Amino acid sequence: MVAAVTRVGIIGAGQMGNGIGHICALAGLPVILLDAKQDALDKALGVMAKNMDRQVGKGTITAEAKLEALGRITTSTDYAKFGECDLVIEAATEKEDVKKAILRTLVPHLNADCIVATNTSSISITRLGAATDRPGKFIGMHFMNPVPVMKLVEVIRGIATDEATFQTIEALATRLNKVTAAAEDFPAFIVNRILVPMINEAVYALYEGVGTITSIDAAMKLGANHPMGPLELGDFIGLDTCLSIMQVLYEGLSDSKYRPCPLLVKYVEAGWVGRKAGRGFYDYGTTPPTPTR
Ligand code: NAD
Repeated sequence: MVAAVTRVGIIGAGQMGNGIGHICALAGLPVILLDAKQDALDKALGVMAKNMDRQVGKGTITAEAKLEALGRITTSTDYAKFGECDLVIEAATEKEDVKKAILRTLVPHLNADCIVATNTSSISITRLGAATDRPGKFIGMHFMNPVPVMKLVEVIRGIATDEATFQTIEALATRLNKVTAAAEDFPAFIVNRILVPMINEAVYALYEGVGTITSIDAAMKLGANHPMGPLELGDFIGLDTCLSIMQVLYEGLSDSKYRPCPLLVKYVEAGWVGRKAGRGFYDYGTTPPTPTR
């Protein structure tokens, strides 16, 4: 039986959490957005309002729809607020121990029928589901960045995910005006299994001096018809997230072809994690952004 989702909780108010909140609220769903940091919640509300303003400007939503959607969003740092949700989507930092700790804190507050989804880019759904009291109602719902723009949601069943959970999430994705692709629970699923090693390879090309930041990005944009160059895309995703995904691929598939490039590691160690930090392979303090090597 497909249960209709009526109230959504979201954990993590970063770039993905605010995007997921944005589209759920515009689809008429009340949203509770939780983050460990109050300032992340405040920032997320501002980002959602700004992104909806852009849609109003383009005529894709009305000013009234924007106000109604923002009115459906509540922010909190208290897990008890999730008691009335029938779906909670975890979209916090891409670290397995962080996600498992969140899930353990979350589940005592949920009603028995609540589905828990994770937006993880790469971590095993089966393993995360096993950290909950409801592996049958646990599933991967992998949105793409930026969420309001990108059509795809990868839906990933863990070994224990039941069919009703899968059908409910498929129906929700359709309601959110997304198209789904079902992926099996292998490291990084489909999109990131293919995309992130390409970004890592671009960092190797830079590291080995095959090209400069500018020439590598121009080559892939103009030579492979990619809308963004791979280094620009790495900055957009977050170099910390890219590194975590490479580590999951490397460890999960035990294949040296997935080793993270030392230069990618160095950028993350420096805190130069891309657009969200103001600096990655490009410095975003200038217009247009300046290459950092
Ligand atoms: P982000 O760094 O922008 O946001 C992460 C948020 O999680 C931050 O606001 C942080 O304060 C919060 N957080 C950290 N620990 C927490 C805790 N214990 N409790 C509550 N909140 C906590 O990261 P993001 O890019 O939004 O990525 C979030 C998730 O979405 C990751 O799993 C990532 O792999 C996945 N994802 C990212 C992209 C992308 O392109 N960035 C695309 C698809 C999926």
